[in-house]
Amino acid sequence: MTTRIDASAAAPGIAIGPVWRYPRRPTPHETAERGRKSATRKAVQAELTEAETVAAVTDAAHRAADQLTALGDRVHEAGRADDAGIFHAQAMMATDTALLDEAIRRVREGMDPVEAVAESATAAAEMLAAVDDELIAARAADIRDVGARIGRILRGEELDLPEHPSIAVADDLPPSVTAEIPAGFLLGVALAGGSRTAHAVILARGLGIPAVVGAAGLLEAVDTAADAAGADGSPAPITIAVDGLRGEVLLEPSDRDIGTFRSRADALAERTRKAAALRDRPGATADGERVVLVANIGSPDDAPRALEARAEGVGLFRTEFLYMKRQTPPTEHEQMLAYRRVLTAFGPDRPVVIRLADIGGDKGIPYLDLPAEANPFLGVRAIRLAYRSHDLLRTQLRAIWQAGALAKVTPHVMAPMVATVSDVKLLQQLRDEARDDVRSQKLPCAEKMVTGIMVEIPSAAILATELARMIDFFSIGTNDLTQYLMAADRGNAALSSLQDALHPSVLRTIASVVHGADSAGIPVAVCGELAGDPAGALVLVGLGVDELSADAGSLDGIRAALAVVTRAELDDISTRALASVDAESVRLMIAPYLARLTD
Ligand code: PEP
Ligand code: MG
Repeated sequence: MTTRIDASAAAPGIAIGPVWRYPRRPTPHETAERGRKSATRKAVQAELTEAETVAAVTDAAHRAADQLTALGDRVHEAGRADDAGIFHAQAMMATDTALLDEAIRRVREGMDPVEAVAESATAAAEMLAAVDDELIAARAADIRDVGARIGRILRGEELDLPEHPSIAVADDLPPSVTAEIPAGFLLGVALAGGSRTAHAVILARGLGIPAVVGAAGLLEAVDTAADAAGADGSPAPITIAVDGLRGEVLLEPSDRDIGTFRSRADALAERTRKAAALRDRPGATADGERVVLVANIGSPDDAPRALEARAEGVGLFRTEFLYMKRQTPPTEHEQMLAYRRVLTAFGPDRPVVIRLADIGGDKGIPYLDLPAEANPFLGVRAIRLAYRSHDLLRTQLRAIWQAGALAKVTPHVMAPMVATVSDVKLLQQLRDEARDDVRSQKLPCAEKMVTGIMVEIPSAAILATELARMIDFFSIGTNDLTQYLMAADRGNAALSSLQDALHPSVLRTIASVVHGADSAGIPVAVCGELAGDPAGALVLVGLGVDELSADAGSLDGIRAALAVVTRAELDDISTRALASVDAESVRLMIAPYLARLTD
């Protein structure tokens, strides 16, 4: 029987497929087996001889190779030969002498087996990363991945990732898990919790994957369906249909429902095709006022999609995603290659804004072993990591200085989570120290670095006039600005009514930031999710924002929305939005303008 669940729309698109439940509930048999294995592991660990440890490492490497071969075969069957090739190559890496013999050598020197594998993988990855060939260097991440898989097998902690193209169902999905799901295996995301601006959803949107959030009762319904159908004790496969535009979820949809969802998908594809027809027209209002449209990306692999959507540059490269899906931080050289790839792809006329790593909040990086915090969104996040040590951000800045020189472009950099004048001074100090280091080592170094900050903490918005005099540009992060102004955790589905960045209190704050920027003559961009929302785009440009940065999939929609309004109308829209008292009335007021798109 079909169960219908209401949710909030979070990323457009329709997906129909099997449920992949995160975290997966173990079957009763697996629970008993895990208990037995962990007891054995504890008993044996202390007493393993060197020969037994070597055998355990060898066995884990072969199991990793078998898993990767099976994964490659499945992906191949699904018709994705290129992706399958990556898994098959990784299967060979798992038992290759560069990794396995080296790990065994380290074990024989007395090293812990998990550490031995991780160190050998890092050494092999660094050798690959140092090769001045992008294709070979890109394999460095793959070998680290293989090392991580062997390590997990040795620790008895197999990560349950989907084994077939599936729709992830979870309360919330850590961005590190979303990033780790093999390409093509994530068809959609349905969260009981979360919000449009949770990072797992931002990642899904960046990949063009439909998502819904706040689907109350979803987990219970999925578990009940699995229990009802699972005769042999293992959960039975459940089909789910997700409409990320209307915010609708169907469990075990009927053939008729599937037909309805498929025709909605066709209609959406038609609208998407129409909006894409405007791609050769630059971002501008109906009467020709230019608006710069740039892309948000999380990896060099996102660059082609952004260029195809005619992004005029990158307004936000979330570099913290480079730290996910691996077991050790990317080295300076690996980062330099990643930045150089993006800078080269966009060239000298399409600026790329590289944001220093925004680690913390919901973007934890397990291997960095940062102290646990009671309130991570209010904790040592992003630029505040430099209060403890300069190393992480300085490595990034050294890599960016070099990448700019090698790509022959001026890199743009910005710091997230700036709150005070001292934070800006810290950013400038780190930037200059990194440049002096690079120059003193006679490494290639860009001439200059255009330096900006994210305005996403209310304190920075209040100090906009002072901060604007210190830097080259502002980029407003409406996701965090809304969360901090409203005191509403951006991932908490129970607070969705407080999370709409079109709320006049957020808009009035943005208006004062624009005013501060204007007083110093610096440009203002918006890179939070509001910029990719057509209603948000109209208000923001009305308020005087110069540049909108959104995921590649949203650029066509905002280009189309801007093309149906005049500058005078945008002035009117922003004046009325500022005079409103809630987000709902702002959306209602803008609806007739957006209706022109379907007229
Ligand atoms: C924001 O806060 O609006 C932003 C763009 O940064 P992030 O979503 O990565 O926190
Ligand atoms: Mg932010």
